[in-house]
Formats: sequence, C-alpha cells, structure tokens
Amino acid sequence: MKKIIVAGAGHGGLAAAALLAKQGYDVTVIEAKKRAEMGHDWHDVMVKSSLTDAGFDLPGEDAFTPFANTSYVAPSMKTEITEPYRVSEYSGYIDRKFLLKYLIDEAEKAGVNFRFGVKLLSVACDCEKVTGVRCWERGRVKEYAGDLVIDAAGIASPVRRTLPGSFGVRNEILPKETFYTWRAYFENTEKKLSDPTNRVFFYHNHRPGMDWVITDEAFVDILVGGFQPIDQTDVDKAVEDFRQQYPYMGKLIRGGQFATIPLRRTLPLIVANGYAAVGDSAAMTEPLSGSGISLSLRAGRCLADAVIAAGEAELTVDKLWPYQYTYYQKYGNSQIGNDVLKGVLGNLTGKDVDFLLDARILTLKEIASGGVPQYKAKELLDKLNLVKKPKIIPGLARALTHLTQIDAVCAKMPEQYDAKAVAAWEKAYEAL
Ligand SMILES: Cc1cc2nc3c(=O)[nH]c(=O)nc-3n(C[C@H](O)[C@H](O)[C@H](O)COP(=O)(O)OP(=O)(O)OC[C@H]3O[C@@H](n4cnc5c(N)ncnc54)[C@H](O)[C@@H]3O)c2cc1C
Repeated sequence: MKKIIVAGAGHGGLAAAALLAKQGYDVTVIEAKKRAEMGHDWHDVMVKSSLTDAGFDLPGEDAFTPFANTSYVAPSMKTEITEPYRVSEYSGYIDRKFLLKYLIDEAEKAGVNFRFGVKLLSVACDCEKVTGVRCWERGRVKEYAGDLVIDAAGIASPVRRTLPGSFGVRNEILPKETFYTWRAYFENTEKKLSDPTNRVFFYHNHRPGMDWVITDEAFVDILVGGFQPIDQTDVDKAVEDFRQQYPYMGKLIRGGQFATIPLRRTLPLIVANGYAAVGDSAAMTEPLSGSGISLSLRAGRCLADAVIAAGEAELTVDKLWPYQYTYYQKYGNSQIGNDVLKGVLGNLTGKDVDFLLDARILTLKEIASGGVPQYKAKELLDKLNLVKKPKIIPGLARALTHLTQIDAVCAKMPEQYDAKAVAAWEKAYEAL
C-alpha cells in the first residue's frame, strides 16, 4: 500500500490522513510541536458540517458555543453597520486546543502514525517528483520517504517554500498577501454579559487593518489585525483604546500571541508530482470570515478522494489534479471575489474607508451579511459611479471590473490536467 507523509498537523492534513489510513494507506504525520502544545489558545468559528464532510463524527453539541452576528465600525466611529441579531445554527465557536486533540485522537484511531516534536526542514525530491521530506529529529537530519507528501504545514510551510521552481508551485505567500494578527482574552471583571458585543473595527486607530472585540461573561476577546506587519506598540495602542471603551476589561488570561494568516485567494497550483498542499499552505483561508478550519477540512476530503481514485497508479500531477479541480469547483472559486475586494480595501486610507461606509457604498450586503458577502460587482460599480468623485478610489473601480470577469476565468479552469492549458489558466487567474 502507498506511503503518505503529512507534513504538519494542519486540519486538512489530519482529515486526509484519517480518511486514507481507514483505506489501509500507511500514513505518517510529522509535526514540530509536542502533542500537548497543539492548537491555539482561543476559540474559533467553524462550520460544524465540515467535520462530517471530512469524515469525522461531530464531537457533540456541547463542544460548540453559539456564533452570533457582528457589527462593523467605520474608522471615524461615526458609522456602524449592525447585522440583525441572529445565532447561526450551522456555525459555532470551538476551543482550538480541544479541536486539534479531537482530530489527532480520531486520526490515530484510524491508524495514522504521528511523529511529534520533529521539525520539517525541506522537501526531498528528484528532478521529476517529490520523494519525501527532510526533518530535524533528535539532533540529526532524517529523511522520510513517501509516494505523496501532503503539505499541511501552514502559511510558512518549509516544504512548499523549498520546492524547486520547475514544479510550478508558488513558494512564497508575500507579505502583502498576509494578514498579521495578535489575539488575547482578557478577564471580564463584571463576570456578566451586560453589553454583548461582537464588533469589527475597520482601520482602528487609523492603522490599515481590522480589529475585533467580542465579549463573553468570562472574558473580552481582542484581536488586533493588520494588512501590514504589526508590533507590540500597535497592540498596546489598540488594547489601551479598547480598555477605554470597555472598562470592565481586566487582566490578560489567555493567548497574547502574534500569528499570520494568508490574505489571498487559493494558490493557482496546489499539486505537483508526489505533492499536494492543503489549508493555509495553499492559502485557502479567507481571514475574518471564519473559514480557514472548515475549508481545510473539506479540502482534506477532496484530496483523499483523489488519492483513493488514483488506485495503484503513481501519484503524478495529473492524478492529483482532480483534487485541485474539485476543490475549486466546490469552494475555491467562490472565495475569489472576496479576495479581490479585500485586496483593494487593504490599500485604501482610513478616509477612503470612511467615505465608502458613510456614503453607503459598502453596506452589510457587501461586507458580510450572515458572515458571507452577497454583493454584485455591477451593482457596486453603479453605486461608485453615482457618487460625485468616483475617481478618489480608482483601485476599487478597477477591482470591481475584475470582479465581473471572475466567472469567465473560473469556467476556463481545465477539468483534465494539461500543462499548457493549466499554465494559461493560472495566468488569467493571477491577473484578476
Ligand atoms: C488570530 C486568528 C484567528 C483565526 N480565527 C479563525 C476562525 O475563527 N475560524 C477559522 O476557520 N479560522 C481561523 N483562523 C485561521 C486558521 O487558523 C487557519 O486557516 C487554519 O488553522 C488552517 O490552517 P492549517 O490547518 O492549514 O494550518 P495550521 O493551523 O497553521 O497548522 C500547521 C501545522 O504545521 C505545523 N508546522 C509548521 N511548520 C512546521 C515545521 N517546520 N515542522 C513541523 N511542523 C510544522 C504547525 O506546528 C501546525 O501544527 C484564525 C487564525 C488566526 C491567526
């Protein structure tokens, strides 16, 4: 039976690992952290059914706390767009440490082998194909060989970053394609929820980015997020401002870490001979819409299905292409519009954002009705053209024109792998 190496215990890698091990594949997950260190020190939103889509049982309803709607605050704080309060049935907050423990335990039960505390150094390959990974284990370099490397090592994956250019996969997720975060829970000293809040602040303190405050009976959850790198001074400034607004914010009780998330549409090529990327390593995430975990899990399912369908055949790029094709058709294509729009928002000034919100060009529909933006590019363009000085935001007008071309580009993605046709499609996709 084929040997599968999963590089990094990301969510999609764990899903694919468990599904493949159940089919008798010899699967090993290599992870830098110790088992007890897995997961972030906070709660995250996820779509519950993504777990069952990825072949896991639901861990039980008490694993989730309800996810309620959000309001969006303009940089000037004059305009606030509030969604009608609605608790989502299908999404919930889950403790990330609990989730990772659950996924790892389930994968282990399915027969997956784990190597914790082993650091991935690079890909191992010959000219034609990926043959495994090189790691740092117990003070020496060790190579793990496999028929397929599933790259689930996140945004800075050393496997993706060391793939030779001839494999065609983008090595780097650029700084401008990255969302920089710091997140922590502070004590709620009132110990009650007198002021239920779930607010996203655009360009808070005039810094290009989005911060949030979510209150709970026990804690105040603060995220400081930037379209450019942020440092402790930015964090201190944001926290200080939130302390003024929420005087019941007490001492720091959880988290307090910097982390990065890809802020771009999925990479144009996520498969190569003996290689497939999944989750943040493939830039599948859409920050601030609570999508990264669920998309990664579902991608893991698409990948396992493609590997199983290949049967005894070598896992070459054409055999893995159905994974990329299915993922894009089911999930990836619908993320592109939001990526184009968010890319533009990241390059505006606080004044521009105020204008767009105050003039009602960006409304709840465009931002996140029920967590998912519902805009039509043509409608947005018409609104922009109606205002007296549309040229103040030419980048937005240009991006909206690109938005109208997305469906045509998506429709051209080749269903069967053909190197020339794929390269032509990649070019059109990246130009959007
Ligand atoms: C502040 C914050 C809030 C977020 N909120 C949400 C949310 O509410 N909902 C949501 O769906 N998503 C959220 N996300 C995004 C989410 O974390 C990711 O999209 C999601 O984890 C998918 O990433 P992944 O599973 O591919 O990789 P990761 O979760 O990054 O996992 C990669 C794994 O690879 C391991 N690894 C990395 N390098 C090496 C190496 N050299 N050697 C060995 N192992 C290595 C890491 O230790 C890690 O275990 C949030 C992210 C942040 C930072």
